[in-house]
Amino acid sequence: MKYSEKMIKAAIALLLVSAASIGFARLEKQGPPEISIVAVGDFPSSDLALVKEKLAKFYKCKVSILPKIELPKSYKIKGMQRYSAIDIVRHLNRKFDGRNGKVIGLTQEDICTDRKLNGKINKNWGVIGLSLLGTKSCVVSNKRIRTNRQEKLEKTTIHEIGHSLGIPHCESNSKCLMADAKGKGSKIDSVLLWVCDDCKKKIKWQ
Ligand SMILES: [Zn+2]
Ligand SMILES: [Zn+2]
Repeated sequence: MKYSEKMIKAAIALLLVSAASIGFARLEKQGPPEISIVAVGDFPSSDLALVKEKLAKFYKCKVSILPKIELPKSYKIKGMQRYSAIDIVRHLNRKFDGRNGKVIGLTQEDICTDRKLNGKINKNWGVIGLSLLGTKSCVVSNKRIRTNRQEKLEKTTIHEIGHSLGIPHCESNSKCLMADAKGKGSKIDSVLLWVCDDCKKKIKWQ
């Protein structure tokens, strides 16, 4: 009786140890929440520092600035001074595939994407930022930001990282930072530096 009790205890202990080590291995692989900022082409170092500070404050995580990368010329739209935002995001997704956390590319070039507005597709519509929901990377351009520069840069980078973290556009509150700008950069001024609880619940770091 005593012997079998010991065996059961040993078996339970072994189970606990293996469960703990599996959990630990998983945690080690994913790592703690982290955001990496990368300049895609030239980008002012003061703005990189600003974005680093604001993202760290908002998402309460480690934020690092990676060495600048080149913006591939092939992503330029023929006959326009605009680059394909989706090509840049896919490029970042490939390049930083093995990296922990999320990656945000910052560019001074004008970026665009095909955007459906009022039921009509607008080809190569100029945007400030683009993210593919729940993927590794997103991109923000400062080209179209003219007024309230610092605040717009802060809100746009938080918004795009929000999409990367799995939050779709907010339907609950028009003041939420995750509300759709509906193709208008000026809309950014009317949202608060705040994400509603419905949106916060959707955050997934992996
Ligand atoms: Zn959005
Ligand atoms: Zn919301």
